[in-house]
Amino acid sequence: MFEPGAAFAESLDRADPLRRFRDQFAMPVPHRAAESTYLDGDSLGLQPRAARDMVIAELDRWADNGARGHFETDRPWVPYHQLLAEPMGRLTGALPTEVVTMNGLTVNLHLLMVSFYRPTTSRYKILIEDHAFPSDHYAVDSQIRAHGLDPAHALVTVEPRPGEETLRTEDLIDAIDRHGSELALVLLPGIQYYTGQVLPMAELAAAARAVGAPIGLDLAHAVGNIELSLHDWDIDFAVWCTYKYLNAGPGATGGAFVHERHHGDSDLPRYHGWWGHDRATRFEMDTLFRPIPTAEAWLVSNSPILAMAPLLGSLTVFEEAGGIGPLRTKSEVMIQYMDYLLDTRLEGRVESITPRALDQRGCQHSLRINDPSVSGQQVYEELAAADVQCGWRYPNVVRVAPVPLYNSFADIHRFVSILEQILDQRA
Ligand SMILES: *Cc1c(COP(=O)(O)O)cnc(C)c1O
Repeated sequence: MFEPGAAFAESLDRADPLRRFRDQFAMPVPHRAAESTYLDGDSLGLQPRAARDMVIAELDRWADNGARGHFETDRPWVPYHQLLAEPMGRLTGALPTEVVTMNGLTVNLHLLMVSFYRPTTSRYKILIEDHAFPSDHYAVDSQIRAHGLDPAHALVTVEPRPGEETLRTEDLIDAIDRHGSELALVLLPGIQYYTGQVLPMAELAAAARAVGAPIGLDLAHAVGNIELSLHDWDIDFAVWCTYKYLNAGPGATGGAFVHERHHGDSDLPRYHGWWGHDRATRFEMDTLFRPIPTAEAWLVSNSPILAMAPLLGSLTVFEEAGGIGPLRTKSEVMIQYMDYLLDTRLEGRVESITPRALDQRGCQHSLRINDPSVSGQQVYEELAAADVQCGWRYPNVVRVAPVPLYNSFADIHRFVSILEQILDQRA
């Protein structure tokens, strides 16, 4: 199906129906080589030109209108976050009323744990994976302590088996069953950030439900990368950031999902703020809180327009590309092409710890360098010297993420060729 040469990469690019989208992004300027290759979209997505335009439009609206811009222009700031609900819902498989754009990922995780982690004397444990992103670990640990509990008893972790890199579904489900009636929350990633493993979210949600525990997902590496159906999978809540695969810029506003069946539940504790209050009467400045009957009830503050404008611009690019479906179709070919090149040119020298099966992975490849004469860190630095930007994860993993919106098959080919040269120099 594939061929090893550069000409074949170019032929794949010529046949790519999404190839025109690359020109809608700013490519980083090379620092040290003649050319640059960006494979770090899992860390910070590239800048869509539409994002810049949207930010400038809001700066102009502010300059021209002052406070009038909140209500009176053709894109007023008060309901600005609502413009994101439909496109964000399409990317996550949620109803527009189930998603809200606000804060940062970890802040949203805290706000949603206020609602969904409600320990009792018998049901008080949170189940996470042992290698959870540190911020999630800190958030969970501090929530447990805020309830006066001890993480030594209340935090349950599941890890890969000895000698294995990825989590087994049966081990996760077994742990959920084992802690069953003591579980107050299951919190798992959609995609594990280190290995790139996709977890079977629907199956895990069903297992959590069967023992009466809510399930929350961290979708930092999943949103904009793989297809999601949060509503149909019956996920209780989810959080994500928008600066990775959603290309909304450094520190851009995060996202949150709350399943419709929790909307309007007055038993759910929540931290309130004026932006979650009924829109029609918000400015009457009444002191009795009346929640919006959607995920917007979790909104606290008014929206950071300059950190949302790039997201609005970026999501128009996703919409134009036909949404996550066609992007994932291209991504699957890119994944297999990368596997093919690594297999044929670097077999034995580079080992992928990302699962091989397509339904267990997104666009990220976590590569371990199996060459005793060179450390993973040296390889990473030599890649950087050739202006290949990718990720580095302690202790020995290089992360590369070919993104279907703006990466080309030629990028993948250049990456593997440079990696091969780096390793050949040592041989
Ligand atoms: C990137 C990432 C975060 C980032 O958290 P912020 O609150 O946006 O800084 C959290 N969790 C995971 C799994 C991540 O990959």
